[in-house]
Amino acid sequence: MAYVVTQACCADASCVVACPVNCIHPAPGEPGFAEAEMLYVDPLACVGCGACSTACPVDAIKPQHALTAAERPFSVLNAAYYEEFSHADRPPLAVVPKQRRLTTTRPVRVAVVGAGPAGLYTADELLRHPEVAVDVFDRLPTPYGLLRAGVAPDHQHTKQAASLFRAIEEQPGFRYLLGVEVGRDVTQGELAQHYDAVVTCVGAASDKRLGIAGEELPGSLSATEFVAWYNGHPERQHLAVPLEHERAVVIGTGNVALDVARILTADPDELARTDIATGPWAALAASSVREVVVLGRRGPDDAAFTLPELVGLAGLANIDVLLDTGGAEITTTGERGRLLRELAVREPKAGRRTIVLRFHAVPSAIVGRTFVEGVRVNEAETIGTGLVLRAVGYRGQPVPGLPYDEATGTVPNDRGRVAPGSYVAGWIKRGPTGFIGTNKSCAQETVSQLLDDLDAGLAPTRRTERDLAGLLAGRGVRPIDREGWRAIDREERRRGAAAGRPRTKIVTLDELRATATSRLRETV
Ligand code: NAP
Repeated sequence: MAYVVTQACCADASCVVACPVNCIHPAPGEPGFAEAEMLYVDPLACVGCGACSTACPVDAIKPQHALTAAERPFSVLNAAYYEEFSHADRPPLAVVPKQRRLTTTRPVRVAVVGAGPAGLYTADELLRHPEVAVDVFDRLPTPYGLLRAGVAPDHQHTKQAASLFRAIEEQPGFRYLLGVEVGRDVTQGELAQHYDAVVTCVGAASDKRLGIAGEELPGSLSATEFVAWYNGHPERQHLAVPLEHERAVVIGTGNVALDVARILTADPDELARTDIATGPWAALAASSVREVVVLGRRGPDDAAFTLPELVGLAGLANIDVLLDTGGAEITTTGERGRLLRELAVREPKAGRRTIVLRFHAVPSAIVGRTFVEGVRVNEAETIGTGLVLRAVGYRGQPVPGLPYDEATGTVPNDRGRVAPGSYVAGWIKRGPTGFIGTNKSCAQETVSQLLDDLDAGLAPTRRTERDLAGLLAGRGVRPIDREGWRAIDREERRRGAAAGRPRTKIVTLDELRATATSRLRETV
């Protein structure tokens, strides 16, 4: 019985390494891996051992017989990949690279700035070396970055990567300094003095701008802030989200656009069973929005969403998903083309909430006198709405103390090396693309550069852990450690369990900090 990779695939390739017959591709190092929308099991070569399923951090790999109706299209997708790319030349066993060993035996201390997926995969790669200890900083009292504050609450499978991150945190040599903002509480320069190396993994905190009139009107929000709002980010809980209109407009056709369109139309009872923040859930449950129009400036062939997400969207029960080609012909081939064409001829069903994917609709202005009243498209038409979500991509912000490339919103680097002793990984390194697991190979590349520099004789720091603790204490900065985070995690799960949810997030900095330092932590 063959196994099948399904929608939640995070592409971190743990499955590839686990597979004894090398039947999961594209594998790291193979053409197409970096751009792959997901990985695929070859149904003819799979021996059905289930090793991939056990290794998958997000439970995305299932035996064929266990697929739900919504997951069944993935069986076709997995097989179709091998019709196009046979990988016939693959060796019979997955090649696990030999573990590299450092030439130095001195203790090495590395600071990782940012406790999101890129930061934690970086820590994991570094901790394969017993000489290395890693301190992971984050400005929030909670780790996991976009896994906690970005991944949509109806994608709970993806959030299971948290158990992988928990295992990383438990390794010897790992420390958290949460609630410490690099750039405010301690500078990059000071970190460089106190550590042998610093890896900056701060992601892309801002959003790209449309550059059209009306972008700043109340009711025009970036998807970045809307996503942070419903995911309980403490700095976004006061966001004003007008939900009293029947129509919302989303600009852009990436996976983020699909995420926000789904959340706006989701059944509140289903959302209640997720870890969505409670305030935003109540606002969404009372929402008047019945229709979400997703605008693509180009044609359906050029839509930015990935095929797994399109399959998930098309399979939504109780929501009409329709497609307006804007007069274009759909020329995409394969399963993607078939699905796009199927959506283009779907008939709406009365009484349902609707998502319309509307193509060849170029937004030229967001209109309204004191708040959003509509979006002008193709110069002539105005789509009436009170809520516009701009989902046109994230953008990295300059990091004080590091160079910055204005054009790409990244820190210029050579495979992760900014300069000997200073490195980057994740979106601040490569721009806002890829999935949670893409950060694993990204981190591996960066750490490999760092290890090369250590082997070449990187100058050791003369400062100690105690020096840094003194510096922070002198500024009144009290880092939250792993046990503090555990106390938050436990309390959120306890509150969630009482309501039949995976967790109920604590959403204010004060309460997060109080929970981290409360007696709850003593019950570890
Ligand atoms: P994205 O994939 O880059 O999509 C951006 C969209 O904005 C494109 O449709 C683009 O259209 C459009 N756009 C850009 N400038 C525009 C303008 N001036 N006017 C109108 N439209 C404009 O970005 P994203 O959705 O933020 O996703 C970021 C990354 O996170 C992606 O790699 C994505 O796959 C990943 N992600 C994955 C998941 C998941 O796997 N479930 C969920 C969320 C995000 P053009 O193509 O015409 O430029």
